[in-house]
Amino acid sequence: MARIQCRCGATLWNGMSPNDIQLIVYTDKEWDAIINCDSIDPLGLPSPKYDAWRCPECERIYFFECGNDKAVKIYALEK
Ligand SMILES: [Zn+2]
Repeated sequence: MARIQCRCGATLWNGMSPNDIQLIVYTDKEWDAIINCDSIDPLGLPSPKYDAWRCPECERIYFFECGNDKAVKIYALEK
């Protein structure tokens, strides 16, 4: 569970599950490795390389590396 303040001022919190803040995003290579495993346990899917959060107010996307609570990439909507 974590909380950050978006640059627009909104507070983002992932304390509720499910929530509309966290996005589950795999790269194509990560997904390919998952689906090519001999057995897939839906409850045991590996965590994606990045933890992605979307602000519901301004739609900025924050990417965090696993284990690091400081965003490594921040994308803002142009239009
Ligand atoms: Zn925002």
